Amino acid sequence: MFKKIILCLSLVACANGAYLEEYKWKKGESFLTFLNSNGISPSIYYDLDAEDRELAMEIRSNVSYQILRNDSGEIEQVLIPVGEELQLHLIKDQKSKSFSLQITPIVYQNQSLSAVVQIQRSPYQDIIKATNNSALANEFLNSYKKSVNFKHVKKGDKLVIFYSQRKRLGKRFGDPIINAAMIEVNKKKNYVFLYEDSSYFDEKGRELEGYLLTIPLKSYKRISSPFTHKRWHPILKRYRAHLGIDYAANRGAHVKSAGDGVVSFVGTKGGYGKIVEVSHKSGYKTIYAHLNGFKKGLRRGQKVKKGQHIAYVGNTGRSTGPHLHFGLYKYNRATNPKKVIKIAKNIVSGKKRRAFNKMVKNYKHKFQVAMDKQKTPFKEEKFNYIVALEYKNNLNTN
Ligand SMILES: [Zn+2]
Repeated sequence: MFKKIILCLSLVACANGAYLEEYKWKKGESFLTFLNSNGISPSIYYDLDAEDRELAMEIRSNVSYQILRNDSGEIEQVLIPVGEELQLHLIKDQKSKSFSLQITPIVYQNQSLSAVVQIQRSPYQDIIKATNNSALANEFLNSYKKSVNFKHVKKGDKLVIFYSQRKRLGKRFGDPIINAAMIEVNKKKNYVFLYEDSSYFDEKGRELEGYLLTIPLKSYKRISSPFTHKRWHPILKRYRAHLGIDYAANRGAHVKSAGDGVVSFVGTKGGYGKIVEVSHKSGYKTIYAHLNGFKKGLRRGQKVKKGQHIAYVGNTGRSTGPHLHFGLYKYNRATNPKKVIKIAKNIVSGKKRRAFNKMVKNYKHKFQVAMDKQKTPFKEEKFNYIVALEYKNNLNTN
């Protein structure tokens, strides 16, 4: 009962007898097929403008979403997270019985956490065992960018992670953000620090080189829309998001693969029109949308090289002029491509260096305190169990 009340707070109303159900977004389901299969007018989708229709393409398969039903089981409201910051909120008008759509910010709680883990098998396995958070284990490996050979880590070595984790409706949502981490290898402590919310640096202020991608066009006119998880549009008076970079370019201009990889999709996808997707190593995927057409013979499963011609710039799908929508995903989460397109290795210098050194000093103290205390790390609950329980609760109380 308690849980039900909390969940209702995030919806506009929780009318008498109404109950909330939680579902996982099915693989291959689109916003349009969702509307159709739930008897909601598809005009909601067709009335979206280009940017919102692109956003509606970004509902991740397996994401938890909620449906509020009245006592006869009819849908009253639907909340579907899309991207990291926004959610699609369908609300039924009580008089006309038709639905309207709002795009609203996801309400989060942010938890600051730390984990001290003693190695038994491997950093990856032991982090998951200690925290139940596989995204944290992935991000830990990713943060070191191969600057540490984890094969040399021995049983009994320690690692410490300071991180923050978002929660939505009481459950983990989105990737954890690692603010600082340390791992011992042969008695040597290896540190990484997140700096300016973008990249990982070692204690000497050197940026750890990440996965390098190239700009997917030889030339473009301008960036017509940058990447953003959430921004308030002052004229439209509503929230928007753009989970990629739009490069305005001539129709027919060559689109190149941003990195070595394997073509994972060639075809058409709703608001994105003609689209190519390429999978890369380390959980990265790039997408190239609104294409005019594909390079002749391009097919799914084909290996491509960085810089290889794969398609042509166009204006297909919901698009207001020839441009390339370039999206980057890490483990299926939209990431700002600008963070990964880099030319040279950066070093923190000048005025910023003093602040950086101070941060390193503070964290080193915190690492020592954490290792001396060695509390049991925070362990995530088993979500599937909780979801089932909630569902049962709702049925019982109605
Ligand atoms: Zn775009």
